[in-house]
Amino acid sequence: MYASRLEKLGILTLEDFLFHLPNRYEDFSVVSKIGDVQSGETVTVQGEVLEIKNNYLRGGRIKTMQRATIVDETGTLHLVWFNQPFLVKAITVNSTISVSGKVETSPRKRSMSSPQYEILYDDQKNPIHTGRLIPVYPETKGVSSKWLRRQIHNLMEQYKEELVEYLPESILKQYGFMQLQEAIQEIHYPQNGETAMKARDRLAFDELFLMQLAASKRKSEWREEQHIQPFNTHAHQDKIEKFIASLPFHLTGAQRKAVDDILHDFGKDKPMNRLLQGDVGSGKTVVAAVAMYEAHLNGFQSVIMAPTEILAGQHYKSIEKLLTPLGVRVALVTGSNKLKDMEFDVLIGTHAVLSEKVTFDRLAFVAIDEQQRFGVEQRGLIKQKGENPHLLTMTATPIPRTVALTMYGDLDMSYLNEMPVGRKKVKTWVVAPEKRDSAYEWIRKEIIETKSQVFIVCPFIEPSETMETIKAVNQEYERLSKEVYTDLKMGLLHGKLKAKEKDVVLDEFRNKKFDILVATPVVEVGIDIPNATIIMIEASERFGLAQLHQLRGRVGRGDKQSYCLLFTDSKQALTSERLKGMESIYSGAELAELDLRLRGPGNLYGTAQHGIPKLKMASFSDTELIQKAKRAADSIFSQLASYPELQTKVEILTTKQVSPD
Ligand code: ADP
Ligand code: MG
Repeated sequence: MYASRLEKLGILTLEDFLFHLPNRYEDFSVVSKIGDVQSGETVTVQGEVLEIKNNYLRGGRIKTMQRATIVDETGTLHLVWFNQPFLVKAITVNSTISVSGKVETSPRKRSMSSPQYEILYDDQKNPIHTGRLIPVYPETKGVSSKWLRRQIHNLMEQYKEELVEYLPESILKQYGFMQLQEAIQEIHYPQNGETAMKARDRLAFDELFLMQLAASKRKSEWREEQHIQPFNTHAHQDKIEKFIASLPFHLTGAQRKAVDDILHDFGKDKPMNRLLQGDVGSGKTVVAAVAMYEAHLNGFQSVIMAPTEILAGQHYKSIEKLLTPLGVRVALVTGSNKLKDMEFDVLIGTHAVLSEKVTFDRLAFVAIDEQQRFGVEQRGLIKQKGENPHLLTMTATPIPRTVALTMYGDLDMSYLNEMPVGRKKVKTWVVAPEKRDSAYEWIRKEIIETKSQVFIVCPFIEPSETMETIKAVNQEYERLSKEVYTDLKMGLLHGKLKAKEKDVVLDEFRNKKFDILVATPVVEVGIDIPNATIIMIEASERFGLAQLHQLRGRVGRGDKQSYCLLFTDSKQALTSERLKGMESIYSGAELAELDLRLRGPGNLYGTAQHGIPKLKMASFSDTELIQKAKRAADSIFSQLASYPELQTKVEILTTKQVSPD
């Protein structure tokens, strides 16, 4: 029974217990005599049990109450617990117990409510749950910190000696780290706050260091195993240049650089593994199109997989327009658009491209758009459609540099950090509750005077679109159309609509059949409606800044000035600092960094998936430690074989931790 619960915490082996690290400590280190305790103090006292009994209560949430009295040579302390009737069996009269908790005093007595307790046996030197800094562990249902402390305590005595130091001596020396055994001892049983911190530093370093070594290992494996026939990029240089020159716009410098990176990779005898990062609207699609053309010129097929039918459809439209005149056969496959035959050079689709019915005979280039929306298996499957194809993953999710260093060290990166010229910044304002009505009025004026169209994004309630989210968006749609914009035409879009229905709504919006589209955050993913110039986001504090930035990218796609209005009812200083960042920062990566600093990595992308793992000890905001670990990993990687223990650790991690590619 415990096994499956422990698995949830990542504990599979005895050693895993010792590496199950606390996320904080409770300070019960002040040990006091009963006579000396002050009201309000959190202390540990030890005493002999005079009496303990169970009281039954009628009705209410509290069914039973356990009262005990303990004494030492200086006084008496009353203890009370609730709903723990087993205590009267566990704690016997005349035994000595140690209790930790907050003291309350009245003129007549001293007491402690729901204290941590443990029975002190004669042979026990140190208490586990009281009298010191008490570790609090990540828990799961049925596995409490108290239970974990007991297990770890027992295992520590048995297994600590068997823990083998895996960090090279030179690194331990260079950074002045604790030895592994000491660090594990101190993280679970710190002598004081300082030794706990030192243990934390060492183990946080290990975590980052091992991840980086694992990334380096994946990278070298990718390089070693696969040999392929290089593309002849020189032969087709003229055609590629002609194609680029024929585009309706000039590539930005960043796009040009990304194209060159890719063509350079194509010329090697190893498959490319590259991440193309770029804010919404930075023009990733055309970069992929050039790559697909190059693959075609070399006689190969390409595929691009997108997360939604809408996106796949848009890609199809734009890529088909670019490549068909050059004699490239472009096809589309989605759930509702089946393939007739396999006569194509470039295939564009949703995960429908993974279907067994879809076959390739010369696939050499795979592009995955919005890669974080696909599972690991899907990403693996698409690669298997070809023989060691080149891989380009594209994302608009800004990955902070620190995260990229740690996690994505095995990928080569191209970053579109430059927007196409002439694109205006989307003016952004945070709108306070009292300004709501005038904001509605302003929007109406814009719609009427400049014929603008507007997105209104309702807050999502759950990570996936549940009925409640749908209900909320329906209600908001009703409210707005009946009370606010009675004179304007409105449409409604949410994730529970069928793909066809969504397409209809979007086509109508594009064709200006209505002025305002009320939507759930489904509009986040690449919808391109140039005439939409205002996006208004409700309960914006619930989104990660990176996500808000992506939403904001829905507008500002044409030549007109565009606006983003962030509504919030929150008065918290942190919220307003975060949201204010949106008014002045226009780089997705910088916004992600800001969020990382203000809220920590857990919230980086709101509730959206992002392929960033939870760290146990370290933090992605600890730039200094990340740099340190990176330097150390780089310096040691080539000699990894001389450190067998370290190598084993890295190997385990390489197989466990999935590459985000
Ligand atoms: P994203 O990076 O969000 O996927 P897209 O590839 O969809 O961006 O490009 C957004 C829009 O910008 C498209 O309409 C595209 O044709 C246009 N575009 C791409 N590159 C340029 C450029 N260098 N100059 C002007 N417009 C461009
Ligand atoms: Mg895109």
